[in-house]
Amino acid sequence: MRHRIRSEEALRDWLEPTADESAAIEATKGVFQWSITPYYASLMDPVDPTCAIRRQVVPLTDELLPDGIGLEDPLEEVANSPVKNLIHNYGDRVAFCVTSQCAIYCRYCLRKRMVGEAEFMMRKDELREAIAYIAAHPEIRDVLLTGGDPLTLGEANIDWLLTELRAIDHVDIIRIGSRMPVKLPQRITPELCAVLEKHHPVWVNTHFNHPKELTAEAGAAIDRLLRAGVPVGNQTVLLKGINDDVGTMRALCEGLVRMRIRPYYLYQAQLIGGTEHLRTPIEIGMRIMAALQGTLTGFAIPRYILDTPYGKVPLTRDYILGRTPEGVAMKTTRGEIWVEANPAPEDGALPEVTLPFFGSAL
Ligand SMILES: *Cc1c(COP(=O)(O)O)cnc(C)c1O
Ligand code: SF4
Repeated sequence: MRHRIRSEEALRDWLEPTADESAAIEATKGVFQWSITPYYASLMDPVDPTCAIRRQVVPLTDELLPDGIGLEDPLEEVANSPVKNLIHNYGDRVAFCVTSQCAIYCRYCLRKRMVGEAEFMMRKDELREAIAYIAAHPEIRDVLLTGGDPLTLGEANIDWLLTELRAIDHVDIIRIGSRMPVKLPQRITPELCAVLEKHHPVWVNTHFNHPKELTAEAGAAIDRLLRAGVPVGNQTVLLKGINDDVGTMRALCEGLVRMRIRPYYLYQAQLIGGTEHLRTPIEIGMRIMAALQGTLTGFAIPRYILDTPYGKVPLTRDYILGRTPEGVAMKTTRGEIWVEANPAPEDGALPEVTLPFFGSAL
């Protein structure tokens, strides 16, 4: 963590930045955090600026283009937070952002609005307040620790948090969402695993996006988690030019199960401001899923999901209604109609639909 790359000069030890990358490093200062671990930097292609690793972590000036549909908080997470950093949008589950720090700041991050920001760090009294909320709501069975990256916290703090949550009878499952196995697998120490093992059932969902990330170091980190009895799942974000083709997605899913990681979700990229250049048409995602179905072991296939303020919507024919001039229309699992602004593909766009003028008549 101390050796992270945080300046153009430090990046030059690894690659020669393009003119656009140099300009973007300067111009995004104060707009969005930037840092890369030396381990993750070692996976970057030093000569190919289209490298899938590089594109996830080195900024481009495209991030600063006016983004007509980009939002700061597309899932209305702030509105769904009864106390600071605790998002309660599903009855039985909460997403608890226990820190705002990450080892690397992914350029497409869903929580760009908060990651790395001091005001979203959690003091102990704020953590206690969130824990008290969970304790006071018996319907919450599943606590998802997220952030930021919860594994940036030290072992003592993680142990304290898990002990507090385990003391609440109605909390069945504790999940940790962390990109550490991908960005800094050395963080998955035996000491950390010993802490997690004390508080089972603890699950970890990590976030591999590309087969190049499935290294021996990452595999060893996953092995340590599995040996501590922690089931490991994976959430991928579909990213234009990074993993939005059948070959890459197949290789990723095959590699994940070889490491004994269960592919869980493939997320449609959110409408985060400054990420338009990374968003893929939903039709392309559906085509990738169709190509995997029937040709890849069932448990190697993730579910393709769009997160909305009304909950997650599986991007399948059951939920998708078609295209309107504004984007892709779908039914949510709660019966609302949601229209996701989304670029149409060059060919094979979904059929057009006309929506009833008043909301959720379907
Ligand atoms: C995605 C999400 C969860 C977890 O949902 P699962 O579908 O159970 O993985 C919980 N809370 C919030 C706010 C979420 O966005
Ligand atoms: S690790 Fe996760 S929370 Fe942190 S910057 Fe990347 S996507 Fe965002």
